[in-house]
Amino acid sequence: MQPPSQESVLVDAHCHIDLYPSPEEIVALVEKARVHTIAVTNAPFVFRHTQELSKGSQYLHPALGMHPELIKSHGSQLDQMLSLLNETRFIGEVGLDYVTPDRTLRQQQSAIFTRILEECARHGDKVITVHSRRAARDVIAAVGPNFPGTVILHWFSGALSDLRKAISFGLWFSVNYAMTGSSNGQAILAELPMARVLTETDGPFLKIGGVPQRPPDVAAVLPTLAQIWNVDEAEAKRVVAENFLRLIGDATDAR
Ligand code: MN
Repeated sequence: MQPPSQESVLVDAHCHIDLYPSPEEIVALVEKARVHTIAVTNAPFVFRHTQELSKGSQYLHPALGMHPELIKSHGSQLDQMLSLLNETRFIGEVGLDYVTPDRTLRQQQSAIFTRILEECARHGDKVITVHSRRAARDVIAAVGPNFPGTVILHWFSGALSDLRKAISFGLWFSVNYAMTGSSNGQAILAELPMARVLTETDGPFLKIGGVPQRPPDVAAVLPTLAQIWNVDEAEAKRVVAENFLRLIGDATDAR
């Protein structure tokens, strides 16, 4: 048991800080509760705002994103996105969403996602948080087996066969409270290699009891991970912290 001062940090690998009524309040919370948070954004034009919010923060990591569901309205900002790519190591939310049956729109999503992946691959060290609703197979195929960088599949909900392929490709996973409550979600959690699991809230979209999740609430995922890994909660927390710190190349703050 570690003394409280050396307690592990928390990790929220996918949170929409800019979509809370008071983002500044969430940033203060992130600092106080020591939650390493990947602050995803959904379109390039809002990146600067989140980048500003993260200034002076030790735990908030601003991410540059282009959400697949916003391609129709914001896909034209791709050039803006690519021009901002040098400003952060963190990319997301990007990916594919096949809730739309529109073939043209799916093709546009795919073209943009592929282009973003190609540009990220040239950097080699990007950390990319990826949406794959009903599109897991195509997302995994687009990333491929040898992607130079870290791809984190956020809230994976695809088939176990696709999941196994993603695992074999070296992809990472961020898991949330909603996944712990369904048998499908638990089956997914049980497949994941411990060393590639991160936690996420997907706040403010994900709610518990009607209340939007905030980064410190990510701890709610830990009891289920502890159970699956057959360790106590403190150890599950330590594993996730260590995973994140290894990912960003900082081994000093794991405990
Ligand atoms: Mn999201």
